[in-house]
Amino acid sequence: QAKKLGRNRICFYDPVMQENIEQKTTMEHELRIALSQEELTLFYQPQVNLEGEIIGVEALVRWNHPQKGLVPPNAFIPLAEETGLIIPVGSWVLHQACEQLSLWTKMYPERHLHVSINVSVKQFQEASFYDTVAEVIAKSGVETGRVKLELTESLIVENIRETIVKIESLRSLGIGFSLDDFGTGYSSLSYLKRLPLDELKIDQSFVRDIGNDNNDAMIVKTIIEMARNFDLDVIAEGVEDQEQFKFLEENGCTLFQGYLFGKPMPAKEIERLFLDA
Ligand code: C2E
Ligand code: MG
Ligand code: MG
Ligand code: MG
Repeated sequence: QAKKLGRNRICFYDPVMQENIEQKTTMEHELRIALSQEELTLFYQPQVNLEGEIIGVEALVRWNHPQKGLVPPNAFIPLAEETGLIIPVGSWVLHQACEQLSLWTKMYPERHLHVSINVSVKQFQEASFYDTVAEVIAKSGVETGRVKLELTESLIVENIRETIVKIESLRSLGIGFSLDDFGTGYSSLSYLKRLPLDELKIDQSFVRDIGNDNNDAMIVKTIIEMARNFDLDVIAEGVEDQEQFKFLEENGCTLFQGYLFGKPMPAKEIERLFLDA
């Protein structure tokens, strides 16, 4: 009975699925155009220290779609990964973020700003990744020490040895590495210990309920403690209110990112923030 149903099932014409496929194809096509027409744009979100000074920004991509308006990354990065378009998209992001930092470094030489750039698994695993990064940074003229790449745990689980070698070769250029969304993946402590990282980024899902969920509060404390033991910087993402900030500060976190300090915004708006922070 079940078998019959299963076999019949794949013969059904599923209009929803068909529509999804069509949507995807259209979107893939549009994304290719977006790349050539410069429809992608970067927003920047401030990262601050204990004094509230902006010490860097995270670059977050958006797609300025001619009909749909500003499309968030979660709506097109997965498709870009699936189709391989993440390679040109990722290169564009690297290039754009480094050019912007180069500009800001000249405009505000007294600030020691860095830029954090998200790197997807597929992009990182591409054979040409090292060369692309080295080339883009060299062209922009920014110091490698001002560029931080954000990786996620899924990468580490997939191929730890290759990952270590690649991170190490890029770190030897001076590039920093942060582990994004930390705590949501499956990487074990022994992996973490082997990884040549500079920073852990506490996922916003833990920060959100710091005040009323004891488990989350404990997870956050543990991550901060762990970062200290591994001699890593620790930054909290998704800090939205004063209570969360206080809790993080009291427990030894020294770097912060979230709506409390500024939403992701166009470069021009970041420059306005620089006037008073
Ligand atoms: P992420 O790297 O973990 O970035 C943090 C996300 O949290 C951003 O969403 C940001 O806008 C949001 N956020 C920051 N502060 C707060 C806060 O206080 N409260 C809340 N509720 N949210 C906050 P966004 O910009 O929509 O990006 C989503 C994800 O898309 C990113 O998560 C990252 O994984 C991915 N992404 C963004 N840009 C790129 C890129 O250039 N390349 C790749 N591969 N992925 C990217
Ligand atoms: Mg990130
Ligand atoms: Mg994150
Ligand atoms: Mg996140």
